[in-house]
Amino acid sequence: MTRERNVLLIFDEVQTGFGRTGRAWAFENYGIEPDIFTAGKSIAGGLPIGVAVVRREFGDVFEPGEHGSTFAGNPLVMAAARAGVEVLVNEGVPDRARAIGDKLMRILEDELNGLKTVLRIKGMGLMMGIELKKRADPYIDKLMNAGLLASVAGGTTVRLLPPYCITDEDLETAVRALRSVLSDSS
Ligand SMILES: *Cc1c(COP(=O)(O)O)cnc(C)c1O
Repeated sequence: MTRERNVLLIFDEVQTGFGRTGRAWAFENYGIEPDIFTAGKSIAGGLPIGVAVVRREFGDVFEPGEHGSTFAGNPLVMAAARAGVEVLVNEGVPDRARAIGDKLMRILEDELNGLKTVLRIKGMGLMMGIELKKRADPYIDKLMNAGLLASVAGGTTVRLLPPYCITDEDLETAVRALRSVLSDSS
């Protein structure tokens, strides 16, 4: 559709990118290549970074010096991003995220699908959501008290973004907390 209308297709991969959905970039799950995509957050292991990747044919849209930021592209953060990319590629991080995500999805479906509050479980790789039949925010504090940090998406979904290095033991702890908190339908 964007080609027909001669507009650029831009993907924001700040959260979905860098292995999160089980591929290096989420667009790979759909067989689509955007003209531009953004990345950030995880790619420098927690140091501040933002990246825009642009098709070569649009590479001259910015001339050097046109787009500045006080700390942009500083050597420390670039070294961290380089190390992050090396780990992503050399240690097969997207495959690992996909395998752990598949496992967690099976466990969540087994443990939570029958609960009265739960509408459905959805996700891709290690980006998952538990959609409830009611507002999710009251459950977020309860989950925190049970040792699990989660947030809300779209009002009724408990959003889970587990770390790629999560252990089986921590997965069990998370599922136990979810089961206990979401069993309470009051
Ligand atoms: C955090 C975030 C941004 C903003 O990233 P900055 O590096 O702060 O500009 C953009 N898109 C999504 C989806 C984000 O989560």
